[in-house]
Amino acid sequence: MRGGPVPAPLHRVYMDDWMAALAAHFRAMRRRYPNDRLMILFDIDGTILDMRYMVCHTLKAYDTAHGTHFFDHLQPEAIDVHEDHVPRLLAELEIRPADQQAILDWYLENRWTRDAVLRSHQPYEGVFDVIRWFQIQPNCAVGLNTGRPESIRAETLDSLNRLGAPHRVRFRDELLHMNPDGWQHNVQDAKVAGVLAFQQQGYRIFAVIDNEPENLAAISALNAAREFLLLHANTIFESKRSLLPPGALSGDRYDLTELISPRSLPREVDLVWHGINDDANLRQFLASDIVWGECDIHRDARSGELVLHHDELAEASAEDADEWLRLDDLLNRLARAGKSVKLDLKAGPELIEPVLALVDRHGFSDDRLWFNAYIPLMGEAGFRRLAEAHPGAVLQAPIDFLEPLVVSVPDKTHDLLQTFCSWGLNRFSIDWRCRQRGPFFDRMEAWGLEVNLYGVTDLHSFLQAILLLPRSVTADFNFPKWHHYGRGSGQRGVYYEYELRRP
Ligand SMILES: [Mg+2]
Repeated sequence: MRGGPVPAPLHRVYMDDWMAALAAHFRAMRRRYPNDRLMILFDIDGTILDMRYMVCHTLKAYDTAHGTHFFDHLQPEAIDVHEDHVPRLLAELEIRPADQQAILDWYLENRWTRDAVLRSHQPYEGVFDVIRWFQIQPNCAVGLNTGRPESIRAETLDSLNRLGAPHRVRFRDELLHMNPDGWQHNVQDAKVAGVLAFQQQGYRIFAVIDNEPENLAAISALNAAREFLLLHANTIFESKRSLLPPGALSGDRYDLTELISPRSLPREVDLVWHGINDDANLRQFLASDIVWGECDIHRDARSGELVLHHDELAEASAEDADEWLRLDDLLNRLARAGKSVKLDLKAGPELIEPVLALVDRHGFSDDRLWFNAYIPLMGEAGFRRLAEAHPGAVLQAPIDFLEPLVVSVPDKTHDLLQTFCSWGLNRFSIDWRCRQRGPFFDRMEAWGLEVNLYGVTDLHSFLQAILLLPRSVTADFNFPKWHHYGRGSGQRGVYYEYELRRP
């Protein structure tokens, strides 16, 4: 072999976490190849999918089919063998040898049926978030490189797309490379062929994730330029760990908070600091680079003034009332700081005129204004008045009550939303935890309607909300990892507290 200079790696791998290293490597590759189509390649079984669920499902299906009770107490989490090593599991469960063979035969025959694939497969936590992150990066694709045979292509795509739907993850047929040689044959050759095939299609591969060390070893032979980051999903695997090629990084958590940094957030999603209802939270917001701050407005019956408070005022004591921040003061400070304001009109139409008067007095232009109100409280006339006063502002209402209807009666839901739009509403707010969020989002996007997400409880859920690519996300910014110390809106009297850790 001819000697020669070995290209330096794009960055020194100093991070402990494989997701942080992946993010750094992706940035470096993007800088080096600004116009190339980049690709990350994922293995499926044991990397995206937790095969213990398949094993458990298939064994329980044996019991159901045969009226036996071998696996009544089996849980996926208790399985510690590879899906091809089920005899060991059967022995551990102390099943009689005569029964073991019958169970194994049945297992091998039934584990990859279409029904089993569609019903039993479950992803590792966080893996679809990571996939979605790369799917939404400009000029970047996620390829699948699996040892599964071509014969189960359709069910492979169906099951992954079903599991990915809540995350808005979709896999395309042409980005799936399978084993042309059938089950268990020449898997490493198929993996190498997959890498070459995607390269021939013009993709520049920057990372490969697989749970089998021997697959990574085979692929590393193609990595002379050291451009792929080799990532080992440290789950359950068959081949020896010692086969892992030099430079491969192992990890067992798909942690979004390691993958996504503040600077890499998509710019098209507006961020809103939730509940700046008191001085402390206001100070944190003003010190941040977040543009929008949201406050909850009530009228204090005692003084007649507009004050900020999350919950109903009736629940507060007179001492509490002395502490309330006045909307007038808040707007004054936001105007001076050049911030934009989201005004949540908690009480309904009687707040409209006094709020509009204060907003005008402090000189907020439409592009720095956002009104939110509940549809039953504000009503058509209220929304029309706000829209007429500030036609360029964001005018929003929560629409969680439509969630069950979006999927079942989409046309009627669309009619209703169009009615709301005719009142001047131009953004719709949804609790990001809603169960139908994938399909809900797809519909809203298809209808050209803007969505705000709320109900975000921490950095991890904030990032998951961002991944859905709504128009905006409203969050507490209780993100110490990012040095944001939001106090929260004070809903039900609850605030976040932080501890000082001394080195
Ligand atoms: Mg695998």
